[in-house]
Amino acid sequence: MTTSRREFLRIGVAVSAGLLPLPAFGQAAPRVVIVGGGFAGASCARALRHTDGRIAVTLVEPNATFTACPFSNAVIGGLREISAQQFTYERVAADGITVTRANATAVDASARSVTLGNGARLAYDRLVLAPGIDIRWGALAGYDEAASTQMPHAWKAGEQTLLLRRQLEAMDDGGLVVISAPANPFRCPPGPYERASLIAHYLKTKKPKSKLIVLDAKDAFSKQRLFQSAWAELYPGLLEWVPLSKGGKVISVDPATRTLVTDFGRHQAKVANVIPPQKAGHIAEVAGVADRSGWCPIDPVTFESKLQPGIHVIGDAAIAGAMPKSAFAANSQAKTCAAAVATLLAGATPSSPKLINTCYSLVAPDYGISVAGVYQPTGGQLADVPGAGGVSPAEAPRGARAAEAVLAEAWFRTITSGVFG
Ligand SMILES: Cc1cc2nc3c(=O)[nH]c(=O)nc-3n(C[C@H](O)[C@H](O)[C@H](O)COP(=O)(O)OP(=O)(O)OC[C@H]3O[C@@H](n4cnc5c(N)ncnc54)[C@H](O)[C@@H]3O)c2cc1C
Repeated sequence: MTTSRREFLRIGVAVSAGLLPLPAFGQAAPRVVIVGGGFAGASCARALRHTDGRIAVTLVEPNATFTACPFSNAVIGGLREISAQQFTYERVAADGITVTRANATAVDASARSVTLGNGARLAYDRLVLAPGIDIRWGALAGYDEAASTQMPHAWKAGEQTLLLRRQLEAMDDGGLVVISAPANPFRCPPGPYERASLIAHYLKTKKPKSKLIVLDAKDAFSKQRLFQSAWAELYPGLLEWVPLSKGGKVISVDPATRTLVTDFGRHQAKVANVIPPQKAGHIAEVAGVADRSGWCPIDPVTFESKLQPGIHVIGDAAIAGAMPKSAFAANSQAKTCAAAVATLLAGATPSSPKLINTCYSLVAPDYGISVAGVYQPTGGQLADVPGAGGVSPAEAPRGARAAEAVLAEAWFRTITSGVFG
């Protein structure tokens, strides 16, 4: 770190206003490198620049186009095109952020540098890792990367999403579709059940003799009561959920025959969607910020790693206590982390935050349900604020469900325009 940067750090910060005091003319600005241009990383980059335009922010992301997972279940169900999920980094760059199209391959925490795929090194004063998830290949016997070309996971949006959709379109009426849902924790807790709903909607309207089985490694899931009462109303006899206690846990798969094996039997599917166990994006492990669980323990006020000082972890990769792994949570964490990083760079102490999550799920195109929560640091973790948040009412007229479906679309437009627009 240069003398001029230390000088900058000595200056106090107007934390509450989110503004850093101006450094003396000619002093070098602090450098923040952010790895991963998804909901967490791109939001954090923009929030940092908006907090103080003099912080030099570099966003490292290999893809020119980001493909969003929220609403990708509607693409699989034939209700939406993948192009509606895709966003570029033009507006992010227009904020004065250096967008570097590369993969981060290594982190030297003591030298404070990130190595890119082409061998270049980026020096940082603070590093934010926002790499999302990676699949734990091999954690489910038989499910490796090659297997995902036969039994798509579609848990990272893009080609996998389209593959699952094409398989459903190619299936004859009367076929068996099987989804396997993983144990906690995983990206988007309501996601498998929204997917089951929208695949059931597709089958009901296009291939009504077909059947859908959800094999689950859990006995309980997010918004369960709401999903199950909607399924009973909309998809009776078509969609069957098999919990852990009734033999739902898939213990191995055979991609050649699209067979899923549980302790209780075998299911040979025409279309199999395997949502496998997950972990933080690989770079987290490389940087030494992931623990044995595969996820990243963080300080709940600053999102700084508990394992490597100077490195913050946000989004799905982080262990964020009661906060689910969602795009909204990632966005909320990104803004909190940006404020904390700016404050720390100015040598001040970040104040304790409150974070929000809202998550909509579609059970049918005109049937939405939601869950919301508020979180704060409590006992070293992010915990629910008692009495805040909740879920859609159990009993509600269809008009209310239709209104929530409209709100879900508005939610998607708002969050994506905030991050990429
Ligand atoms: C089917 C489905 C439906 C969902 N629906 C919803 C929903 O309705 N609402 C909601 O809130 N959430 C939803 N989610 C969850 C949401 O998609 C994730 O929680 C969110 O994407 C997490 O953001 P992130 O920034 O942590 O990860 P991501 O958005 O995945 O971004 C990670 C980025 O990091 C980049 N990256 C990874 N490694 C490197 C590296 N080494 N170098 C450089 N860049 C790297 C990747 O290319 C990627 O762009 C859904 C998820 C799924 C799968």
